[in-house]
Amino acid sequence: PMQHANNVDLGEIAKFEALANRWWDPDSEFKPLHDINPLRLNYIDERAGLAGRRVVDIGCGGGLLAEGMAVRGAEVLGIDMGEAPLAVAELHRLESQLEGLSYRRVTAEALADEQPAAFDLVTCLEMLEHVPDPLSVIRAAARLVKPGGHLFFSTINRNPKSFLFAIVGAEYLLGLLPRGTHQYTRFIRPAELAGWLRMADLRLDDLTGMVYNPLTRRYRLDRDVDVNYLLHAVKGA
Ligand code: SAH
Repeated sequence: PMQHANNVDLGEIAKFEALANRWWDPDSEFKPLHDINPLRLNYIDERAGLAGRRVVDIGCGGGLLAEGMAVRGAEVLGIDMGEAPLAVAELHRLESQLEGLSYRRVTAEALADEQPAAFDLVTCLEMLEHVPDPLSVIRAAARLVKPGGHLFFSTINRNPKSFLFAIVGAEYLLGLLPRGTHQYTRFIRPAELAGWLRMADLRLDDLTGMVYNPLTRRYRLDRDVDVNYLLHAVKGA
């Protein structure tokens, strides 16, 4: 457990702390997360079924996905290392008067030591590209999920096109995200992520792209995984 103690980049956490009060504003820096939320909720629900499932959402931030899953009938624990995002998530939960939703400030690694094989589903979206050691998070996710359970990860590919779209386009030209939100070197190629899943004894079930159309300002699921992508993995029974 101690070797995981440093798998938190305080600089990354600070970026999200600074913006957290605007998390639920769909016209804020978090607009892209609002825009992709229905797509990913449908993807998760269709592939694993949310109602009645016990779910942990790693790097839950202000709770957009965690709350969406609770609305669909899952019992959700959202975890994050940012204080302000968790406070915002908790306030929104109170306003929404949702049962079966709770939040904790804990790392995936520490929770896996405490509650191994306790969850039917593990989600970890738009988070791996913010941690020093993504494989450590994937291994923790694999320990958190029950045998036969489902895991969902999303992140950003690393290639010239993703640099152009996710950093130059999104942060500098379109201003969808604050400048400095993403570091190119932390982006993860699908083949790298697939290799880490294998190392954690997980089976990759599906890989799908999330593509932004700047003209319609809409995202859609697509075969093109060049920039944003989402995947479904399963832990062997
Ligand atoms: N998963 C959410 C939020 C993504 S933003 C969504 O897709 O809607 C990334 C989040 O990861 C931030 O809230 C940040 O605080 C969190 N984070 C970064 N490093 C982390 C770590 N090591 N452990 C837990 N959360 C972390």
